[in-house]
Amino acid sequence: MERYLEIKREYPDALLFYHMGDFYELFYDDAKKAARLLGITLTTRGQTQGASIPMAGVPLHSVESYIIRLVKLGESIAICDQVGDPKASKGPVAREVKRVITPGTLLEENFLPGSRDNWLMGICTYGKDDERRIGVAEVELSTAQFVIREFKEIKDVISEIVRIHPAEILVNEDDKLPLRSETADSDACVVRDYPAWNFEYDTCQRLLCEHFGVMNLQGFGCADMPAAIVAAGALLQYIHSLKNDNLQHLRSLKIENDLTHLRIDATSRMCLEIDANRPDSDTSQKESSLIGLFDRACTPMGTRCIRRWFAQPLRDHAQIKERQDVVASWLEESQLTALRDHLSQACDLERVVSRVATGHARPRDLVGILRTLETMPDLIALCGPGYYLPEHRLSPCLDLADLLKRALDDEPAQTLKDGGVIRAGYDADLDQWRNLRSDVARHLADIEQRERQRSGIDSLKVAYNRIHGYYIEMPRSQAERAPENYRRLQTLKNVERYTIPELRELENRILSADERARARERQLYDELLERVMPHFDDLQSNARALSEIDALATFALCARTYNYNRPQLTDEPTLSIEKGRHPVVEHLNATPFVPNDLEIDDANRVFIITGPNMGGKSTYMRQVAHIALLAHIGSWVPAEKATIGAIDAIYTRIGAGDNIASGQSTFMVEMTEAAEILHNATEHSLVLMDEIGRGTSTYDGMSLAWACAARLATINRSLTLFATHYLELTELADLLPKICNVHLDAIEKDDKVIFRHRVKPGMTDRSYGLHVAKLAGIPHDVIAAAGVKMEEIKKNVAAELNGDKNQTTLPGIGKAPAPAPTNNETPPTPETNKSSANEQATLDKIKQCNPDTLSPREALSILFELAETLANGNKRTPPR
Ligand code: ATP
Repeated sequence: MERYLEIKREYPDALLFYHMGDFYELFYDDAKKAARLLGITLTTRGQTQGASIPMAGVPLHSVESYIIRLVKLGESIAICDQVGDPKASKGPVAREVKRVITPGTLLEENFLPGSRDNWLMGICTYGKDDERRIGVAEVELSTAQFVIREFKEIKDVISEIVRIHPAEILVNEDDKLPLRSETADSDACVVRDYPAWNFEYDTCQRLLCEHFGVMNLQGFGCADMPAAIVAAGALLQYIHSLKNDNLQHLRSLKIENDLTHLRIDATSRMCLEIDANRPDSDTSQKESSLIGLFDRACTPMGTRCIRRWFAQPLRDHAQIKERQDVVASWLEESQLTALRDHLSQACDLERVVSRVATGHARPRDLVGILRTLETMPDLIALCGPGYYLPEHRLSPCLDLADLLKRALDDEPAQTLKDGGVIRAGYDADLDQWRNLRSDVARHLADIEQRERQRSGIDSLKVAYNRIHGYYIEMPRSQAERAPENYRRLQTLKNVERYTIPELRELENRILSADERARARERQLYDELLERVMPHFDDLQSNARALSEIDALATFALCARTYNYNRPQLTDEPTLSIEKGRHPVVEHLNATPFVPNDLEIDDANRVFIITGPNMGGKSTYMRQVAHIALLAHIGSWVPAEKATIGAIDAIYTRIGAGDNIASGQSTFMVEMTEAAEILHNATEHSLVLMDEIGRGTSTYDGMSLAWACAARLATINRSLTLFATHYLELTELADLLPKICNVHLDAIEKDDKVIFRHRVKPGMTDRSYGLHVAKLAGIPHDVIAAAGVKMEEIKKNVAAELNGDKNQTTLPGIGKAPAPAPTNNETPPTPETNKSSANEQATLDKIKQCNPDTLSPREALSILFELAETLANGNKRTPPR
């Protein structure tokens, strides 16, 4: 226990699996925790200071399955093995922690989700005041990716977390970043405080230089990214502390920023249902996300590559066109089928080469490399000359393929433990030991035959067990016929067991032949691994190329199967879509999908979309975003024709939910998200706003929606789709340039509403809310009562409008019919003449403006001026 406690002190956060005989044992709190999490028995062992020591254990042979379960629950496991020879050591055998397995540093095939990257993320802040940056480093050990980024604001870090779904996050404990609540509902993400001394700049920089074997980090282009360097260095220290010393496969450091990729923040990602599903979701749910539709790659590498591309749409049109050209060249069915057939032969090379480099490869990993290399010549021929990315060339590695073919058995054993990995004929020594072993087996059979004849006992046999080794067995009834040189070993109820000197001698020979064969096989296997390593770069490049080929072949397959077309890319601020469809809705719905067009350009930047509930507004907006996104990853799109302009970001705000954990109500969440868009969207951004202002009273909501749409049109000037049930907003099209109205079509027939899902110019006249409520099963009496109430409200509004036409004009701009007052609101009283005069002045001022010539700054100051004029005019006497 002394040694146990000594080791445990080094790994306080991990569950310590302590090798004892045929079991891994856990003690004290570890035992209690493991018993609870795994449902295994909690027992005791010995005593310390009068109290018994809690203990739980798992069998050695099935330890993997227990580790997988614990890692999935976010636990870390320190594996403490015997390192000494039990026969040679006096007292307890020496033990040592060989490896600490944590959720973010997995390498073993069985522990990893095949279709997803498994990221470890390091986060820290660096610098003071304006210079303060948040450094983020991301390592994917199993696929050898190492990426760094810097951010200014924590919300961008959160977006990054949502984008890559890390399995484990390491944060500088001194930074006190509010990450735990943000990641609370993210699946199995462990956030770990890491001591501040690991985030020391000089040490981190030195470690990185040592790791990459360079004098400084300038070559990676990150010399001026101190926060990211610190985060990356701390990650390296952490990984080393887990006894993962072999990191030679991490060969480069990639810098990422928003200039290279389309920005899609966390909320937008969720709203668009790009990857709405959790990793453990079943297939039926998978189909309901955009990525789910593309889950058709031949290899896990291809699946992961598609996910990466979805997470990082490109902005560089040249790069997108390169991908498009490849997809275009693979559309022909027979070629695509042949290509995919060959890809299906490939192993998960990306992870296999990492396992080889880190010393975790199993025999069948090497066979995987061989099978993959064997398909390479055909793949190269099918891909055409000069596969498009020069740094990711396919290389057949003929020498290596030849070596592996000669060395490896066709169906090698799972592990090296019992031999059976190296092919017969590869090594003379190994063959000799193996032959000797089979000679001995033949010899034993001869002995059995001879002794039967000698004794005349037909049921005599030569058998083996671990206690007595080889022995001769015969029925007790025949025992007196046993020859004289038989020495009795054991008497059982029905049989007698004997040995003879010849058997002992043979046994020694067989054991030593076995041992030697095994030792030789291990030596040959290790040599083989060493001979793979010089090909590491080629293999890694093959892995990258194969994942991309698989991803692009999947795009080609999806283009064919789902009837997608190649989008054109342009630098103009435009989105022109003919007969666009929603990829997921059209896939899932039994009824035919109604395609729709869109023509956003500089003249018409903001579309106010109205229409009945269930009319298809959200579907239409999402399909536009999906088409834009697919175009930016190099895929074909669900439209007959599409021309997509240069876009820097997609912002989406559709619906809202409470975020009670972080203390935010529905409306607060809605407004926070809207604020983010209004602050950040540029004239190159695609903005989708669905029913903004819904979560508060009618007046507040409508006014906010109005002002948001106006700002998006005049200040942000973003390419905007703005869906609303506030029909009053359609007036903006008359008041501000660049805004136009479209609506979703529906007709009423026999008191029923028929949704036609067609987008038409102009505005709708009603929302058909009661019809939809009826369809949803709201009781008839409630619908009838609502109908009566609606008529009453309409009458009141008409009467009020006749009484004072200026009464319900919305702040600043135009007239609007009065919305229905809610119970706890005071309806607006008629305004004073002063207010009307102010509003008129405001209107005049707006009319004089020419937004085309205003700078954003001028526009803002005019807006402030207008707001102030109105505020002065609209000060009402509070009701008594
Ligand atoms: P609400 O205002 O109530 O939120 P909405 O106008 O946003 O409604 P959606 O949620 O987009 O309506 O669409 C409702 C349903 O109509 C969808 O789930 C889909 O099944 C169907 N639908 C929408 N658009 C189309 C289309 N173009 N073709 C076929 N079906 C469609």
